[in-house]
Amino acid sequence: MNDILAGFRDPEVARHLVDEIHRIAVEPCTLMEVCGTHTMAIAKHGLRGVMPETIKLLSGPGCPVCVTANPDIDLAIEIARQPGVVLTTFGDMMKVPGSYSSLSAEKAEGRDVRVVYSPLDSLAIAEREPDKQVVFLGVGFETTAPTVALTIREAARRKLSNWSALSLHKTVPGALEVLVNDPEVRVTGFILPGHVSTIIGTAPYEFLAREYGVPGVITGFEPVDVLQGVWMLAQQLAEGRAEIEIAYGRGVHAEGNPSAVAAIEASFVPCDAEWRGIGVIPGTGLALRPEFAGYDARARIPVTVPEPREIKGCQCGDVLRGVVLPFDCKLFGRACTPEHPVGPCMVSSEGSCAAYYRYTDYGKD
Ligand code: SF4
Repeated sequence: MNDILAGFRDPEVARHLVDEIHRIAVEPCTLMEVCGTHTMAIAKHGLRGVMPETIKLLSGPGCPVCVTANPDIDLAIEIARQPGVVLTTFGDMMKVPGSYSSLSAEKAEGRDVRVVYSPLDSLAIAEREPDKQVVFLGVGFETTAPTVALTIREAARRKLSNWSALSLHKTVPGALEVLVNDPEVRVTGFILPGHVSTIIGTAPYEFLAREYGVPGVITGFEPVDVLQGVWMLAQQLAEGRAEIEIAYGRGVHAEGNPSAVAAIEASFVPCDAEWRGIGVIPGTGLALRPEFAGYDARARIPVTVPEPREIKGCQCGDVLRGVVLPFDCKLFGRACTPEHPVGPCMVSSEGSCAAYYRYTDYGKD
């Protein structure tokens, strides 16, 4: 085991934090994590089971693949269906179901859909295959947006006329504001995402504490990290404080990464975005700036998208809002498994349903 991380997996430290959480969390509270990696860590290390009865842990819309709404997946599929188009994307988008199909099903039908490991790989394809229109499907939060932002600028620098980006990127803070106003959820504290916060720092979350009195702690991904985040939240709540704190000091600085933020701002402008289960949230999408309009796949390859439809019986929307837990869905572990996923939360490696299926016995007969 990496020595640096060993301390963050130390059972003695973890036990001490659990004891402290039990001691100070006397009032009922609802804490939500909004990062798929936290969802996996909480399920993998059984952290839900060691919480006191006063702490309710919810999973929120922290998996960017899962929150991509059906109309956006349908749009990507329609673009992939156009003659001469090569649609490139990261592997985790392939099996995500849209209204009627998925990219992996389209590939099986003969569409040219390719998995890449970096957006720059799609530029290389465009250069190698000038007779094709190469589209990069960009999905992700502030963590992945900088590399796509730089790729857009690189495409412009190389004057590529056969490459474009379909940006389905989303930014996290606006979704937290919707959740904090959701009377069904009633979040009293946020376990804030470590990766996203590496880029944006603490400032974009300050409104939670200032305007809503809801504390947040930016938290890492090892078991001791998560327990420390919960303990710091419990402490704030016990003391009647609401602040944005950092428990993940080895990964996040308060100011974030200004260069990465500048890269995002140089290529993108905020736009409205539809989140699965939540709906359209103003200003939480990232559209290409007008000067890069020629690299926007929506304009380059106009298509007509069929009327979207929901996946029958799937409660991914409610899971992503934190209204229900994965094993509350009637399909969990029965009709819906990682081998035969019905909804995106079971497809993605960071999806709540996949996490709870993989690491717990819930829903398994
Ligand atoms: Fe959707 Fe499957 Fe999760 Fe149910 S168990 S919410 S069908 S992904």
